[in-house]
Amino acid sequence: MRAPTVAVISMGGTIACAPSADGAGLVPRINAADTSPVNGVEVRSVPWSLTDSSEISFDEIVRLAREVREQTDRGADAVVITQGTDTLEETAYALSLLRPLDTPVVFTAAMRAPSAPGSDAAANLQAAISAALDPELTYATSGAVVLMNDQIHSAKWVQKTHTHRVDAFRSVGRSDLGVIHEGRATLLRCDPAPALPALLDSDRGDAVRVALLTAVLDQDTDLIHAVARCGYQGLVVEGLGGGHVSGAVAEALGELARDIPVVYASRTRAGAVLEKTYGSPGAELDLIGRGCIPSGQLTALKARVLLTLLLRSGHPRDKAEALLMAEGAAGDG
Ligand code: ASP
Repeated sequence: MRAPTVAVISMGGTIACAPSADGAGLVPRINAADTSPVNGVEVRSVPWSLTDSSEISFDEIVRLAREVREQTDRGADAVVITQGTDTLEETAYALSLLRPLDTPVVFTAAMRAPSAPGSDAAANLQAAISAALDPELTYATSGAVVLMNDQIHSAKWVQKTHTHRVDAFRSVGRSDLGVIHEGRATLLRCDPAPALPALLDSDRGDAVRVALLTAVLDQDTDLIHAVARCGYQGLVVEGLGGGHVSGAVAEALGELARDIPVVYASRTRAGAVLEKTYGSPGAELDLIGRGCIPSGQLTALKARVLLTLLLRSGHPRDKAEALLMAEGAAGDG
């Protein structure tokens, strides 16, 4: 019987870092796929880039999604992607929305470089490869997942919640999708069926920019006015608490919402935003009345990814807003 083939696409980040030749700190310079052989598996190493994850663009994620499809067309049984942890919660969700395959794609990364004591690089890669080949994972989800620290997270809910701990990744507000135990995946729940059509084939490559601003104490409106001047096609506001802003900020957002989609999320990054409770200026009823739309359970980072990809796919504004609200409402709590 032939060994299963897993394509490992390496995109830099700490999992690919080694000390730089000039002693100026860790830099991505090794291929993550080469760090750890896995028994009984043919690893097809696909070197993609050697960058920090802050350099990844939406165009690159779309190209990556096409590469995922290409790898399975060329006979890979599963695909693992390695990258930096800093933007992982955004890229994995973007790939989930593009959905190049009907089967899951596993992302992994490392909080400690391969050269660091107690590095999680090899363990995460090995666990990601086992999970990617596990039929149970395909049963549990068709989206992308993030595997870190023997925990499997749905791309939609995962967040990086700590600057340096190996357990930095959490499925905030819900249980993990699964765990790795003795080298095998145990799935703890199933993802609901996707609320959206796959966006890869409809992606037009349009240059779409969606801004993200956080509501803060004693906020002025200059940056909100700048969003229109700078030509952004959408704005996500990470609101206070249930998704609130001050009355003056709400007024500026309402003006902006006449021209572009304005989404409100919550800077608490846990729980759904409110939609029908508070009526003060700047609270949700005011924002909705001014044409802003709720992100539901999506964090601002996820809502920005979703709105960007919907607009890149040429969805008219009302359709994009309706799809965003449907995706924000869908889920397990
Ligand atoms: N700065 C790195 C990156 O995101 C951090 C990491 O990989 O953990 O590329």
